[in-house]
Amino acid sequence: MKNELVVVTGAGGFIGGSLVADLRRQGFQKIRAVDIKPFEEWYQHFDDVENLSLDLNLKANCETAAQGACQIFNLAANMGGMGFIERNKALCMLSVLINTHMLQAALKLGIQRYFYSSSACVYNGQKQTHFDSPALKEEDAYPALSEDGYGWEKLFSERMCRHFREDYGLCTRVARFHNVYGPHGTWDGGREKAPAALCRKVIAAKLSGQHEIEVWGTGEQARSYMYVDDVVKGIQLIAASSILEPINLGSAELVSVDQLVDLIEEIAGIKLTRRYNLTAPRGVNGRNSDNTRIKQYLDWEPGIPLRVGLAKTYAWIYEQYVAREKRLQAAH
Ligand code: NAD
Repeated sequence: MKNELVVVTGAGGFIGGSLVADLRRQGFQKIRAVDIKPFEEWYQHFDDVENLSLDLNLKANCETAAQGACQIFNLAANMGGMGFIERNKALCMLSVLINTHMLQAALKLGIQRYFYSSSACVYNGQKQTHFDSPALKEEDAYPALSEDGYGWEKLFSERMCRHFREDYGLCTRVARFHNVYGPHGTWDGGREKAPAALCRKVIAAKLSGQHEIEVWGTGEQARSYMYVDDVVKGIQLIAASSILEPINLGSAELVSVDQLVDLIEEIAGIKLTRRYNLTAPRGVNGRNSDNTRIKQYLDWEPGIPLRVGLAKTYAWIYEQYVAREKRLQAAH
């Protein structure tokens, strides 16, 4: 595989960029990185891979992206935290064009393996109504009542992968990512997710001396958060596996939003006043990953402790934040 062409879509984003970085580290010789954003806006830049700026909503571009590839990791999507997906349902649903055209291109061009990044947002909302709702098993996606917009698109695209496999013999693999965080992710601008947003708010409070932050919801919403190194490893394990059905790829370390803030405060060495915004988007009350199946298949599960991953993420966002402040001051 290391001498064959591997394509990563969404490579200008958080997880795609981190996957490209890891493939390079492992010595993959031919990597094609594709994203709709202009190259200057990609989160990570690697000049020794083939970088293409293409809109993968378009079928012809998907064929250009897939040409000559052995394997495709499709990570391109319109995506963000709750604040973004609750306000951009139509845009999130339009990602169906990307997966549809990438699947058609993969089939036409005889691609050997196709990986699709689904999400825990496919799970039935009624199974996540309590802060201590049981961890989600793969079968909990049905009967379907996914997160409106983004989640329904992911569920539909999962099924397309399944039917392209069953009807046309394309080798598809699907993982349902639970919240991912880490360096080189979105940390400001409206698409960031809770860990990055809270790190940024704590940093802003610390540097400004105004020791108060806004927390969305009551602070009781429970989630698990997976460090980016774990998702990058899991993607490759699942892509290479014989796992036919969509499978959870998430941490099983459940914390409340308040506990997440506690951890970030501890890392930052500060205690802040919390102002709870009960009208802000907050998603389901409780969501965790049941990892029984991934452990059975792979004898592995994401295991990087939240405390460890958060310390690295906080340090990276701190650097970005300070660098941006300096740029802004220099511009004035
Ligand atoms: P991201 O937004 O950082 O990366 C996605 C990339 O896709 C972006 O760089 C974007 O420009 C690109 N893209 C969007 N539309 C495109 C198009 N038409 N053509 C080409 N590129 C396009 O998000 P991420 O966190 O890296 O997510 C990667 C994948 O994982 C997505 O499919 C996402 O839905 C899924 N996922 C992520 C999480 C998470 O917590 N980050 C959780 C569940 C699922």
